[in-house]
Amino acid sequence: MWPPFSLNRPLLWVGLVGLTATLWLPDLLLRGVALTLVAVGLADAWRQVRREHLHARLGQEALALTEDGVIITDAANRILAVNPAFTRITGFSLEEVRGRNATSLAAPRHDTAFFERYWQTLQATGRWEGELWNRRKHGDEYPEWLRVRAISDASGRLSHYVCLFTDISMHKARERDLRRIGFEDPLTGLPNRRRLHDLMASRLRHLRAGESLDIALVDIDGFKAINDALGVEQGDRLLARFGQRLAHHVAGGVVGRLGGDEFMVIRTTTFDDHDKWVAGLRAHLAEPFELQGHSLRLGLTIGSCRAPEDGRESDTLFQRLESALYAAKRHGRNHSQRFRPALDVQESPQLGLVNDLRHALATGAQLELHYQGQHRLDDGSLVGWEALLRWRHPRDGLISPADFIPLAERHGLMASLGNWVIDEALACQARWRRLGMPELPVWINVSALQMFQGELESALSAGLARHGVPARLLGLEITESVLLDERAGDIAPRLEALRALGHPIAIDDFGTGYSSLSYLKRLPLDKLKLDRAFIHALPGDRADAAIVTAVLAMARGLDLEVIAEGVETEAQRDFLRAAGCDVVQGFLYARPEPAAALEARRQPPGSGALALAVADAGGGAGELDALGAG
Ligand code: C2E
Ligand code: CA
Ligand code: CA
Repeated sequence: MWPPFSLNRPLLWVGLVGLTATLWLPDLLLRGVALTLVAVGLADAWRQVRREHLHARLGQEALALTEDGVIITDAANRILAVNPAFTRITGFSLEEVRGRNATSLAAPRHDTAFFERYWQTLQATGRWEGELWNRRKHGDEYPEWLRVRAISDASGRLSHYVCLFTDISMHKARERDLRRIGFEDPLTGLPNRRRLHDLMASRLRHLRAGESLDIALVDIDGFKAINDALGVEQGDRLLARFGQRLAHHVAGGVVGRLGGDEFMVIRTTTFDDHDKWVAGLRAHLAEPFELQGHSLRLGLTIGSCRAPEDGRESDTLFQRLESALYAAKRHGRNHSQRFRPALDVQESPQLGLVNDLRHALATGAQLELHYQGQHRLDDGSLVGWEALLRWRHPRDGLISPADFIPLAERHGLMASLGNWVIDEALACQARWRRLGMPELPVWINVSALQMFQGELESALSAGLARHGVPARLLGLEITESVLLDERAGDIAPRLEALRALGHPIAIDDFGTGYSSLSYLKRLPLDKLKLDRAFIHALPGDRADAAIVTAVLAMARGLDLEVIAEGVETEAQRDFLRAAGCDVVQGFLYARPEPAAALEARRQPPGSGALALAVADAGGGAGELDALGAG
């Protein structure tokens, strides 16, 4: 609001004094002087009036320009003025609403208690902010984000209310879409891991006397080879068909995809024929799949268990299913294994691997960080690196982090593994600075468990101090699901503190969890990383294209940079560029590579340019390529 016409102006007072003086001063000359003073005072007042007028006009122009609706009411909440955006959003012109009580625009969705709280807050604090449903002229209701301020006059008496609102119906629709994809595996449309947990828990809760749950984890043998031979697209098609066939077979049951080539099946039953049921699944899936003229017969490994005998909690059952599946895999392909308590203890083949990982951590010798560049879309320039962990197992070769990180998490090794990553990334940054390589942030992946166990902050500050690297050079990628996990405590102040230290913060795998706009608004974030599941089928897949466009629009509104990962083709890149994406990462630009390879390609010192050569788009990184495709 502009200040009212002000009497606090010396020249105005000089003019007033001059005016009184002309009335009683006897001397003509003195009267002349006084008249001049009056003229100066008048000129000053005129200037002020013009300035007020200009201010008012600027204010009006600003109101006309803004995309937000604005309503100004008097102290009794009667509408005095609205801006053009108000008319655009609601359909009402000023004439139609002038003098009406502003709350009469609200949709009849809110109860009196809501409005009581609204007025209480407004009276106590002079402001209110929140979500409110309003009704448009043509009757449909829409959600808006409303900010209200009480305005007082010079004497402190309430004179007006100013209400600013944004139509968030589009955002709401996007939020719904995003929430749906948080529960659904985008490839098959089946429930995803998170949803399967919920579904299993709910079936367990509703078990009646005499009923049991049969649960099976089905893994396709050698799927990676099929994928390599037929291409990812055909591989995806096969997974979708596989899911469909499974879902048809277990009508009334639950079928979902845990990720990769792992599917889960649950049925509620009164029969005691677990093994026969599993054999039936296998027989049904043994029929060949027709794909691109090929007839494919799949080998399956199945781990299974039965509730309540093998457990009453979905977490326990998930773990036991995995034990059973690993045990089945040890028997070679095409084998089924029902959970046995012995699998939980010493027999678990994973335990061998866990011991190996413990050993690797103790020496650090088998662990490596590989770095993948992140590139600005408008000019291709390198803007950062993501550090990706690798484990070079002496017997099994390179093991994917997607395989051993869950293992580390389950067996209490994640904190040490995470600390190793922090230290290694910082050591590398320190070395790069010494070598005169360009100063770009390295982003590390932070596991949910590192957040829960609360050692993250101390590991970070110790590492920064040890290597003398500023926090701004170490970005933190945090997966979306962590943000809503109450085990992490209230995450906002922790992120706030990390960011205050200088760490940039990104939400990883955005779109795969419970994407919620409300936390994005609340949290201190620098970037959103759009999960590669959404990039993969671009630009052909209309659903993915719509999701990506929606996320980009939403991020723009929230002033967040978006980085798309898994960009493999020029068509994907072009789509993302047109949709307004800022930064990309993917095989099209570079594969993850060991630090030594990047250092070897650095330009010789003294050549002036410090820019790093970008790895050849199709350039082979040898055996490491195999790990990229998750
Ligand atoms: P992420 O954070 O989503 O990492 C990106 C993954 O996509 C990496 O797989 C990368 O190699 C791969 N990738 C990059 N560009 C492309 C592409 O164009 N196409 C395809 N198909 N894939 C691409 P990677 O290295 O196997 O890592 C898998 C996951 O393991 C990561 O997913 C991350 O969640 C986790 N991870 C990796 N390193 C660490 C770590 O140091 N700490 C923690 N906590 N997790 C890590
Ligand atoms: Ca990541
Ligand atoms: Ca990701």
